Amino acid sequence: FDQVCMQFDTRRGFFQPARSLHALTDISFSLRPGEILGVVGESGSGKSTLGKLALRLLDPSRGTVSYAGRDLAGYRGRALKRLRCDLQMVFQDPHSALNGRMSIEQCLLEPLQLHRRGTRAEQLQEIRRLLDVVNLPHAVLTRYPHELSGGQKQRIVIARALALKPRVLVADEAVAALDASVKAQITNLLLELREQLGLAIVFITHDLPLVHTLCDRVLVLYLGRMMELAPRQALRDGGQHPYTQALWRSSPVADPEQHMLDAEAVGGEIPSPLNPPAGCVFHTRCPHAQPRCGQTPPPAMELGTAAAAHSVRCWLHEGAPAAPAAGCAPMP
Ligand code: SF4
Ligand code: MG
Repeated sequence: FDQVCMQFDTRRGFFQPARSLHALTDISFSLRPGEILGVVGESGSGKSTLGKLALRLLDPSRGTVSYAGRDLAGYRGRALKRLRCDLQMVFQDPHSALNGRMSIEQCLLEPLQLHRRGTRAEQLQEIRRLLDVVNLPHAVLTRYPHELSGGQKQRIVIARALALKPRVLVADEAVAALDASVKAQITNLLLELREQLGLAIVFITHDLPLVHTLCDRVLVLYLGRMMELAPRQALRDGGQHPYTQALWRSSPVADPEQHMLDAEAVGGEIPSPLNPPAGCVFHTRCPHAQPRCGQTPPPAMELGTAAAAHSVRCWLHEGAPAAPAAGCAPMP
């Protein structure tokens, strides 16, 4: 992502003029091969839009999203088809991702058939291998989605996403609907897949403690802006941006004792993305806001080292050197 902006124009209402919603503003980062990057923020922070841009389900209004050194917008024909194999997604709701009238065997065969991967016998062998990868018995092949539990269905969705041997998986709230033990199983599965297949994963969630256990780096979004891009170790002490710190305090598992006291940790309402505050967009809720925060947006400031880049957009860190536009080298 290089200085990516995404703007949606809302339709003119009866009493309202058409306005534009800035879903994402000036987003720059690179995903490394085999990296798990967490993308966190409250709802409406632009997380899902970022996922859709990464998959080329949307084209950015400004800036470029590239893969393998090439602008996604330039992919056409066979290259685009190949790109669709390399970039796969897993969403929150496995029910809607699986066609209820297709058996699990048909669900898993579908991508292989669409992309003409191998003979029928090879395809049947491949879907058995995929079930092994996601730890499901081959007996599920004759079942239908409604006969499986939520966790089993999510494993099927992941197996199907892996069928085309992707390099990048975008998981948008992929474990949010699952209960705690299944959530842990699926996150362990993602870690194994990264180890075994070298898969890079964009893990979109509102769950900061989960990101801390799973991800190598975290990108914190607020009203479509990058507040912090930090290596995982930097999260241990709560992050450096006041918004990241507030997210930690409002997380139920971060500190169960403290949670009741801090239930309102982030405090206040999220401003409308149609009318974001001037200056630092977080200033209306920030406990450390200074007068200039409401006037001048802070630039990204670099706190990390070359090996562990860490950038923060907050005036409290003024004096740190300016961050380079992108955090690291692009994917080869
Ligand atoms: Fe808070 Fe100011 Fe930092 Fe924004 S720039 S997070 S308002 S201290
Ligand atoms: Mg979302």
